[in-house]
Amino acid sequence: MDQIMGQNCMSLRMFLVIAFPVVVIVTVTLMYQNSGFGLFEGFSGGIIQGGTTQNVTAELLTGGPNVTTHGFELGGRVQNITHDSLGESEGGVKELQGRSQNDATTEGRTKNITAADGGPKNVSLTSSTNESTQHAVNHDDKLLGGLLASGFDETSCKSRMQSHLYRKASPHKPSPYLISKLRGYEEIHRRCGPSSKTYDKSMRKIEHSKNNGVATTCKYLIFTPANGLGNQMISLAATFLYAVLTDRVLLVKFGSDKHGLFCEPFLNSTWILPKKSPFWNEKHIETYQFLLEKDRVSNSTEDLPPVLFMNLQHSLNDPEKLFHCGHSQDLLRKIPMLILQSDQYFVPSMFMNPFYSMEITKMFLEKDVVFHHLGRYLFHPSNEAWEFIRSYYKAHLAKAAERIGLQIRVFKPETTPTQAIMDLVLSCTLKHKILPEVGLETSVSYAKKKQTTKAVLVASLSPEYGDNLRTMYHNKPTISGEVIQVYQPSHEGHQKSNDNKHNLKAWMDMYLLSLSDVLVTTSLSTFGYVAQGLGNLKPWLLYRILKNESHFPACERDFSLEPCYHVPPKHYCNGMPMPTKELFSSFPYLRECKDFYLGVKMVNDSM
Ligand code: GDP
Repeated sequence: MDQIMGQNCMSLRMFLVIAFPVVVIVTVTLMYQNSGFGLFEGFSGGIIQGGTTQNVTAELLTGGPNVTTHGFELGGRVQNITHDSLGESEGGVKELQGRSQNDATTEGRTKNITAADGGPKNVSLTSSTNESTQHAVNHDDKLLGGLLASGFDETSCKSRMQSHLYRKASPHKPSPYLISKLRGYEEIHRRCGPSSKTYDKSMRKIEHSKNNGVATTCKYLIFTPANGLGNQMISLAATFLYAVLTDRVLLVKFGSDKHGLFCEPFLNSTWILPKKSPFWNEKHIETYQFLLEKDRVSNSTEDLPPVLFMNLQHSLNDPEKLFHCGHSQDLLRKIPMLILQSDQYFVPSMFMNPFYSMEITKMFLEKDVVFHHLGRYLFHPSNEAWEFIRSYYKAHLAKAAERIGLQIRVFKPETTPTQAIMDLVLSCTLKHKILPEVGLETSVSYAKKKQTTKAVLVASLSPEYGDNLRTMYHNKPTISGEVIQVYQPSHEGHQKSNDNKHNLKAWMDMYLLSLSDVLVTTSLSTFGYVAQGLGNLKPWLLYRILKNESHFPACERDFSLEPCYHVPPKHYCNGMPMPTKELFSSFPYLRECKDFYLGVKMVNDSM
């Protein structure tokens, strides 16, 4: 047990028990009511995720083998503080929380929470980067080193041309080959995408062909999302790479729950599958698994369908998908329309295919930044989302000397006490000096020390984590003298499916996290993967706890920003089992993920 850690937690416990006996409970009202953007007006809750869209990560945790690797007792506990109204930071700027507008009295002090207090202030981005200097930026920076195409109407998607103002320039430059592949893809998309004549012709042919051998000018790949937004985004990035590698046009089945989240990524075209397309419905379409079985029995490619449904969704026990195998890819190549459903970042399985591996290696000179490039290429917040993100950033985060992103994902809230999670978060952040300790001395003696400000952005479904941290730093000075301001833009309570506003908040949380200088995420959470990939951040991975337990270490630093592929192939292409050890010797650029020992991620050869 870490003694210092134990002492820290103990003093914290005393501090919280003694200093805050009065807990004021306020009515939690509609989300973001103070934001002043009108974004969340009329917000109504969605339904609890269930059925086929159940959370995949929780399933991995419960359905799969035991993933516990650590075990130790933390020294102390943080007093559980009820969600209260101490949401005001030292600087007087409040988070855009669903707060009661009633006055809240705490320890004799009355805080008047008004909409004007809570709304983002119109302040300049940083002291050195203000609106006037924004226009003087290098064109190359704007286009992220050539990753983005020029020629877009900037007003229709402001984030595409403004993102570089909010994050540090990436040290990972896109290779000329990647840039040429992207420009080539855009050309195919423009030529074959919806609203082109070729699209109509190809679709008619595919739709009316009953059997084998239909040849179309263009081939298509339709992405069907599954699970939460993080899962959807990492699997969509993998699907896009597959489209680029196979010269297929990527179309996405985005329902109304994703309306207005992202800008169109491809110049002069759309990636949304047109509403009138018959392929919104996957019924009566031959499946990939059936095709493999047919092929195994007859060993013939005579009878290939014009459309095929491929389920590459996570499963620990499904039959091997053999997607990485040359023979499967040969079959798939002959089918003009593939409908792919996935929630996984299956990029490593493409690397496992010798042909794709060569291509990908040329496209990505660094193998551990594939999502970093593809994510920044594909995912641009819509103007509506961007207005919130940039205003929130400017009002709360821009002026801080350092921004800490804290993503707290509780996979089993029904069995995991808030206290256990708080202990874990503090154990990690205090030990690694991500956050400073608070002292018992008066603020006067600490005031002489450095007075820099750290802004902490908490992303969580539950309000308690932001509230607890804020309370802790609001009431006691830090030993370092730093001022800690805590913000939590949303607390949705629980994961919801098919809910547009809910997804919008999730996307904004991910994006804001990605603007951090230091990122702490929760192991196995794809929500965190998106933030770390977009932000070029190697996160501190909080240990995943599922009940009232403690762990040491509470977190570990990840070795890369790539998302983890949770369910890599377990068989060679001849059907023989491939033990994990052999996976790593056969594919030396794969490494076991730190947050899930069955998962793999790409590393550079040199690592
Ligand atoms: P994962 O389950 O952690 O891998 O992440 P996903 O994004 O795939 O699914 C979790 C979903 O729960 C998110 O997409 C959101 O809908 C919701 N959610 C989880 N954590 C947060 C959070 O911190 N903020 C918000 N706004 N939503 C969250």
